[in-house]
Parts: sequence; C-alpha cells; structure tokens
Amino acid sequence: MKVRFWGVRGSIASAITGKDVENKLRAALALATPADLLTPESVDNFIASLPFSIRGTYGGNTTCVELLSEGDEQICVIDAGTGIRPLGNSLLERGRLQGNDEIYLFFTHSHWDHIQGLMFFAPIYIPGNTFHIYSSFADIEERLRYQQVRTHFPVIMDEMAAKRYFYHIPELTPTQVGKFTVKTKAVRHPGGCYSLRFEENGKTFVFCSDAEFNLDTMDEIGSYVEFFYGADVLVFDTQYTFEESLRKIDWGHSSAAIATDIALRSAVKKLVMFHHDPSYSDSKMDDLIIQTLKYKDMAGQDQDLEIVAAYEGLTIEI
Ligand SMILES: [Zn+2]
Ligand SMILES: [Zn+2]
Repeated sequence: MKVRFWGVRGSIASAITGKDVENKLRAALALATPADLLTPESVDNFIASLPFSIRGTYGGNTTCVELLSEGDEQICVIDAGTGIRPLGNSLLERGRLQGNDEIYLFFTHSHWDHIQGLMFFAPIYIPGNTFHIYSSFADIEERLRYQQVRTHFPVIMDEMAAKRYFYHIPELTPTQVGKFTVKTKAVRHPGGCYSLRFEENGKTFVFCSDAEFNLDTMDEIGSYVEFFYGADVLVFDTQYTFEESLRKIDWGHSSAAIATDIALRSAVKKLVMFHHDPSYSDSKMDDLIIQTLKYKDMAGQDQDLEIVAAYEGLTIEI
C-alpha cells in the first residue's frame, strides 16, 4: 500500500504569507556562496542542500490523506479537509474518477478541518463516479449534509452528480472494505473521534489524529497499544509541544513526546507527526522534529523507530 499526504495542518487552513516567503529567500541567500550560483546545476544542488523549512513548506491545507492499495488499484481517502481539493485535481490528472470509477472515503469525525474540502472535490460532481463513505459515526451523512445547507454553501448534497453510499463501521469490528481490513477505535477528543487501522497483505497503516493522550491517560494506554501494535506506519496527532500539552488539557490533542512514547510501546516502525498547529512556521516545525528525535534517542535507547513530520506531497510506500 501507499500513503500520500494532501493536508497536514490542524484546526484551520493556514496559507503561507508573503513575509514567510521573504524570510525563506533571506535565509537561502545568507547560505549561498558565489560558486552555488554559477550554473543552473549548481543552483539546483544548492537548493537541494537547504533545510526543508527554507526550500519547501509543510503546507497549510487541513487533514486529507490518500491511501492506495497494492498496485494503486483501490483509492481510499481519510478525511476531507481542504487538502482534498488538490487531491481531486491530481486524481483526474492520473486518469482516475473521470466517471465509472469508485472511491472509498473514511471520516474520523466531523470537525470543520476534516470535512470542509468535500464540496471542492471535483470527482464528486462527475456522473458515473461512486463514492463509498465510511465512518464509525452512524449519522455521518446528516453531518455532511448539514455543512451544505443553502445558508452555508450554494450546492446541496443531492445536486452532486456522483452516487454516494454511506456505511457504518462498528467500533473494534474488523470490516472488509475492498482490499483493506479496517478497524476503528474511539479516542479522547471533544465531540468524539475514531482512529483507523488498515491492513492489506500483512502491512499495517494506522491513522490517529485528533486524539488527546497525556501523562494522566498513560495508565489506561493498554488497549491503545494493542490497537496501534506493530504498525508499519502510525500517523499521530502531535499538534502541541510538550509544554503546551501540560497547559491545554482537554483541548483534544497530543504532543510529539507522548506520541513517541506510545509508538515505542506499540513497536511501531515509522511515526508520522501530524495535525500541525496552524500558528507554526516551517522553521518551528523543523525545530519540533529535532526536539522529537532527541527525545526518542533518550526514551527509546536503541529501539528502532523512524520519526518524520508529515508535509504536503510526502509519499510513503508501505
Ligand atoms: Zn482536526
Ligand atoms: Zn477535531
């Protein structure tokens, strides 16, 4: 299977500003030597050598993750934050969902940052496409319809041309969805939220965003460790710094330190930091990763755990 990130930001979409671009240019120029600028090749090499926060951006779109089965046959999407809009364009460019095609959408919960891109997902307006929509919230159809009443959006759901079928996944019940076996587990979050575990051909992908784990809840972690256990990739809510997580109890998110502890206890192979705070700049994100890697070296001794932060365009083969 393959995972690709289209929206990684939490709470609200946060576009990069002109000032941010200016700061990146300044930082890049300060690192350049005359030899770096001599030829187009030396410029390319110089750009490739820059830290990620200078040459790129983590991205400002809200939650949307694409999950493809072996051979890219079955397309799944986790949550429809604003990142689903560029995903729709990409799918059409790849020749998918142009009519007579199918897609599987999974909703962890219905906070705005996880649903508000759906009306901008071009394939949902194309006749002949079929959308299979899954959630452990039995009323997900009503919730999605509600964001499209005419006072909020000009097009209501019944005017979208693709066929839509809604399915309820009972919590902790392995459910076959095409090529994937899917299981959900409720996590602590205002209004509720479910994490998702996907298995295909002996590989496991777990998505756990919008989930509050803190020092108080670590005693009850057993059933979660079981749910995350052995994941090849675990995407985890790391919206807060450790200091913020001590202040923001009951706000519904976690820190990268707690995520690292849980990933280590769950024998996870790769942890992906996710749901980045909308106020964090790219350079602050780079700092957070460095801190998290240092913490992992302290907490995990020599246990194998790779840690990366999600950015728009990150693709992981599992
Ligand atoms: Zn969220
Ligand atoms: Zn949420």
